[in-house]
Amino acid sequence: MKDYSTYSFWLETCGDDLTPRPGLDGSIDVDVAILGAGFTGLWTAYYLLQREPSLKVAVVEAEIAGFGASGRNGGWCFSGFPVSPLDLIGKYGFDAARAVSLAMYESVDQAGEVCQREGIDAHYAKGGELEIARAEYDLAKLQAMYDEFRAIRLEDHNELLDKDETAARIRVEGAVGSFWNKEGAAIQPARLARGLARVVERHGGTIYEQTRVTDFVPGKRPVLHTDRGDVRAKTIVLAGEAYLSQLEKTKRDIIPMTSHMVVTEPLTDGQWEAIGWKEREVVGGFGATGGYLNHTADGRIAFGAYRAQYPFQSKITNELDRNEGIFAHARRATLVWFPMLRGVKFTHAWGGVFGKPRDHMPTMAYDPRLGVAAGYGYSGEGVATANLSGRVLADLITGTDSDLTKLPMTTHRPRQWEPEPLRWLGVKAVAMSRHRTNRHVERTGSYPTKPTIADRLWDW
Ligand SMILES: Cc1cc2nc3c(=O)[nH]c(=O)nc-3n(C[C@H](O)[C@H](O)[C@H](O)COP(=O)(O)OP(=O)(O)OC[C@H]3O[C@@H](n4cnc5c(N)ncnc54)[C@H](O)[C@@H]3O)c2cc1C
Repeated sequence: MKDYSTYSFWLETCGDDLTPRPGLDGSIDVDVAILGAGFTGLWTAYYLLQREPSLKVAVVEAEIAGFGASGRNGGWCFSGFPVSPLDLIGKYGFDAARAVSLAMYESVDQAGEVCQREGIDAHYAKGGELEIARAEYDLAKLQAMYDEFRAIRLEDHNELLDKDETAARIRVEGAVGSFWNKEGAAIQPARLARGLARVVERHGGTIYEQTRVTDFVPGKRPVLHTDRGDVRAKTIVLAGEAYLSQLEKTKRDIIPMTSHMVVTEPLTDGQWEAIGWKEREVVGGFGATGGYLNHTADGRIAFGAYRAQYPFQSKITNELDRNEGIFAHARRATLVWFPMLRGVKFTHAWGGVFGKPRDHMPTMAYDPRLGVAAGYGYSGEGVATANLSGRVLADLITGTDSDLTKLPMTTHRPRQWEPEPLRWLGVKAVAMSRHRTNRHVERTGSYPTKPTIADRLWDW
């Protein structure tokens, strides 16, 4: 039996018994069958049972609830959406772009409210999101972020902070300013995933763990085929994010990308005094030593490196979770941000995969003729977005007329990724080009004025 506590610091310290729930034992009939017990699957189950408590909902999970990215991420429950407001305006218009951001704000709050209501202690702290410029040339980026939200008239949710205002929140080496978005909360993600699983069960849902879906068949009576029997349903929900790349029917809808994190030991009061960071904002920054940071409830710093990699042929293995080179880079980068922590111990390091759609756009869609709903494609910004998926899919499946069912993700159909080896070559070319851009910026102090060829060709 796998030791699931080894998959992340969060799973190890979530306080829940990680012994798998019983698997499926033969074929069953339900109303809704959900593939995957991560945030998307669990939120969908939760909201379905809120809308119609008598529904028979089964969640089918290959490992344990929270095994995937939901139990391993940076704990940024924030309103970031993979497609920027200006790009959304360009594709879907002003109203749709604004509606997406408002729905994301609501998702951040929903996560906190449900935790409160249902008694999940996910260490939720809404201190906002703080993006730090650690060099003068990054100030233009902050201004651009602010302007994006001004374009949808939501700039009152944001503030541009100067050097001193930034230092009053957090002391980061070289920081010259920051962009604050009040719509963000720090969470302990595995506590949320494991807590949600228990809440879903309390409301009448059933979770089958250690049960792998091998295929699905759409139709009047759609089915999830598993290695332990069939789950026949009125509706099936595909909530496997990056792992949907492993199924024949969805293998070109999404690719897996890796992300890796390290975490320090709990810092001393003196170290926290030197750093500040009292509101537990989720903190990020750009460039070669950029990352996504979390001030954990037990007083550590978790640092996630922006070094996403794509495994050839979308092959997800346990080996992907461990990348000593990226771990070492993340430990070094933590000290670049906080030189006063020299000598600090790093206690854990782990990785996981998130899903990347070819056109950046998440899908939250339901086709009643096929009996198939799906929520995925968050490009590493899926904590709050998965809550939105859950609410959108629950409304679509139950026929609830709401504004959520008119969001552009509900009509979005994934653009197919190229076949291999083109796919791997393309993703690699973009990653190398981004790396070169970071080096160029650090050398010259300015960003290139035109997109690179790789960026233009692949646009992701
Ligand atoms: C290291 C890391 C850091 C991240 N940091 C952040 C962050 O700070 N903020 C943020 O917004 N986003 C972050 N993300 C992304 C975010 O975690 C994900 O987008 C989100 O958790 C996706 O949730 P999900 O339920 O859709 O997918 P997952 O959590 O991946 O869940 C999918 C589930 O499906 C199961 N499954 C897979 N295949 C099958 C099958 N065939 N049959 C049955 N079950 C199956 C898996 O075991 C898994 O439990 C991060 C991701 C990673 C990897």
